[in-house]
Amino acid sequence: MIPIVPAGATSGVRAAFSEPGQLNLPALPPLSLYVHFPWCVRKCPYCDFNSHEQPGGDIPEQRYLDALRADLEQALPMVWGRPVHTVFIGGGTPSLLSAAGMDRLLSDVRALLPLEADAEITMEANPGTFEAERFREYRTSGINRLSIGVQSFNSQHLAALGRIHGGDEARRAIDIAQCHFDNINLDLMYALPGQSLAECQADVETALGFGTTHLSLYHLTLEPNTYFAKFPPALPDDDTAADMQDWIAERTRAAGFEHYEVSAYARPGRRSKHNLNYWRFGDYLGIGAGAHGKLSFPHRILREARYKHPQTYMEQCEAGQPVQDSREPGPDTLPFEFMLNALRLTEGFPSTLFYDHTGLPLHTIEAQLDAAERKGLLERDHLTIRPTPLGQRFLNDLQEMFLGNDS
Ligand code: SF4
Repeated sequence: MIPIVPAGATSGVRAAFSEPGQLNLPALPPLSLYVHFPWCVRKCPYCDFNSHEQPGGDIPEQRYLDALRADLEQALPMVWGRPVHTVFIGGGTPSLLSAAGMDRLLSDVRALLPLEADAEITMEANPGTFEAERFREYRTSGINRLSIGVQSFNSQHLAALGRIHGGDEARRAIDIAQCHFDNINLDLMYALPGQSLAECQADVETALGFGTTHLSLYHLTLEPNTYFAKFPPALPDDDTAADMQDWIAERTRAAGFEHYEVSAYARPGRRSKHNLNYWRFGDYLGIGAGAHGKLSFPHRILREARYKHPQTYMEQCEAGQPVQDSREPGPDTLPFEFMLNALRLTEGFPSTLFYDHTGLPLHTIEAQLDAAERKGLLERDHLTIRPTPLGQRFLNDLQEMFLGNDS
């Protein structure tokens, strides 16, 4: 935590947001930076992210980097003087950026923001866009954690997911990455179209065989407004999917991984600092097309969203107005927003965190906490609030209990 009024916080913008409001934050939470890169070679049929198809990966790199810098410059008064402890460059497919482009992006970030010396700097990469040389240079530019979107090692399942890479390319990508990075996450999905339990197990065993520091294992879901939502593929039934989930929990534990969030598994000391900051309801400045941000001030919390379409976003940055929407969640919605994140943590969170990061006293949600406890979904002592195994299994139900005042 840092003092509530950072040194040098003199801008009019910041002063305006520091006026009296409905909340009383004792201090500002840690600050992260998210940078969105909105293009992919091909749009995957299950994807609901802000990613735009750019066949051949031919992107307006310089113009986009100029836009990101302008976006960051206009946002500076909102975070003046606050150290940034993690950076995440996500997408889309950030590995479509040239090595020189990534170097420029990180130089701009360093020039404008006080990055902590040991800041975790993650970039997402897709196996289909891997080039050995480029990855060495990304590392040299300061990327110190790589998150590789493997999804599966089975070429048939990858084809069903519309991915541009095959299983061999995924293996090769990890081999190359391991020459340059010692902190690597592999993204995998399970309950894929036509996938058996044995095939899921084979994918996870292959991933474990690489000995990386982190695994993100996601249950494939059909999201609205995707191709799969319109034309649903045949997915494993609920029982098979539950068997996969149970096996994953056991197997990763046996392999020495800590299951610390719904889909996240880490070797000791290798949890994703950036994602942990989201789940602990920390602050993040989000720049780039469609990026979301959450910033705290002494008496209010501000949520922002940038223009979504890359073309519009770049034009808006050039006009000095990259933010499309901003709102201030109040005492009516903050408990749910907090719990939506914090209850994802399997070990729960310190009970003081609610007040620290929402500025609301814990008794605001006493009735909901009691009700969740009575239903066996949550347990707590004077130090910690955590979802029970039942609460983890019925997480949506648990989170929804904090939507209103019903108990
Ligand atoms: S590569 Fe990732 S971001 Fe791009 S379309 Fe596929 S799932 Fe979405």
